[in-house]
Amino acid sequence: MIERTLFKEEHHMWRETVRRFMEKEVVPYHAQWEHEGLVPRELWLKAGEAGLLCCTVPEEYGGMGLDYLFDVIVFEELWRVGASAPGFLIHTDLVATYILTHGTPEQKAKWLPKMVKGEAIGSLGMTEPHAGSDLKAIRTKAVRDGDDYVIDGQKVFISNGQMCDILVLATKTNSAAGAKGVTLFLVEGDRPGFRRGRNLEKLGMKGQDTSELFFENVRIPASNMLGVEGGGFGVMMGKLPQERLAQAIRSATVVETMIEWTVDYTAERQAFDQTIADFQNTQFILADLKARAVAARVFTDKCIELFMEGKLDAVDAAMAKMVTSELHCEAADKCLQLFGGWGYMWEYPICRAYADARIVKIAGGSIEVMKTIISRELFKGRLKGRKAA
Ligand SMILES: Cc1cc2nc3c(=O)[nH]c(=O)nc-3n(C[C@H](O)[C@H](O)[C@H](O)COP(=O)(O)OP(=O)(O)OC[C@H]3O[C@@H](n4cnc5c(N)ncnc54)[C@H](O)[C@@H]3O)c2cc1C
Repeated sequence: MIERTLFKEEHHMWRETVRRFMEKEVVPYHAQWEHEGLVPRELWLKAGEAGLLCCTVPEEYGGMGLDYLFDVIVFEELWRVGASAPGFLIHTDLVATYILTHGTPEQKAKWLPKMVKGEAIGSLGMTEPHAGSDLKAIRTKAVRDGDDYVIDGQKVFISNGQMCDILVLATKTNSAAGAKGVTLFLVEGDRPGFRRGRNLEKLGMKGQDTSELFFENVRIPASNMLGVEGGGFGVMMGKLPQERLAQAIRSATVVETMIEWTVDYTAERQAFDQTIADFQNTQFILADLKARAVAARVFTDKCIELFMEGKLDAVDAAMAKMVTSELHCEAADKCLQLFGGWGYMWEYPICRAYADARIVKIAGGSIEVMKTIISRELFKGRLKGRKAA
């Protein structure tokens, strides 16, 4: 079997540490978090204390300045125990790196040390009720007023939305300018006029809060702008390959995990005087999934390598997300089937994994959007339709 070659000794040691943390601090409480739809703040503080948050943040901003693989290991170990919460991925992989890459020295000094410690939880506010895939159509507006901006609008589906202390918010500073009118701001969770709406009820990912957020005359200083006015869309597009890579890593990990659970279950469960694994149907389904899981892992690891060299492009990231997401959902369905009725019971991790899987074909860019990106590259300017540009 192909060995993963990305990791060195220090990464293996880190994985052991992270695995112990997940077993002790996440697994025993996860069902309760699913019930409550939230992870308590204490868990974030414990994770911060253990160094699990924002591993790549440099020491001058309170982090450990480690390579990306340390963050990858945290995410993989979270998914390997079947956890859908807490939302470390958004916090570490997106919000902290947005601030690290595009923040001013003051913004970095203010937020990164708190994010590393788990004292400030990050959220990313892009999607609006009428605009998800087509982000340039957002309507939340930020209007300049002296040294401030005043924000009005609404976001939806925001992960960590109930908990967040710091929000990277996409706004329109010029509603006539399309993508060039999008500007990002850092918005503090305690700003007057900022209101958290419902913690939305979801099909899966139940431990993670996903919220509506409302902004009514929220006044923030101009110094809260992240990047330059009108530069928000470019910043978001630049970040998407990293977000899609993380989704691919998630799917590759969860597929492997679901196959392991299913091998264990079917090798024990009896029917017609043999185990379920003894049916050739079971073996063929799992052999097929295993071969494709290895292909997905090798492809994803190559994308991690490219990302760390600064060479992962949008098309490769889209392909990685697309093939792993589709495999993820198919594997969840086929593995659950092999558990029979028990697979439909929430007490079985495969049941949760099935419910949690569905989001991977939607969030962070849907399958259709991935296909659009890949097609555009494939046909390189040869598509003539109105929407092709
Ligand atoms: C659990 C969860 C967590 C999320 N977390 C966050 C978060 O933290 N922050 C955030 O900002 N957002 C978040 N989202 C939002 C997510 O990114 C969007 O749901 C996603 O981008 C799709 O947008 P939409 O829901 O508006 O669907 P739409 O854009 O309305 O799409 C509807 C359908 O049309 C298809 N479609 C759209 N455009 C095209 C096209 N060009 N060609 C072909 N088909 C197309 C889509 O693929 C989809 O099947 C989250 C969503 C969920 C469900």
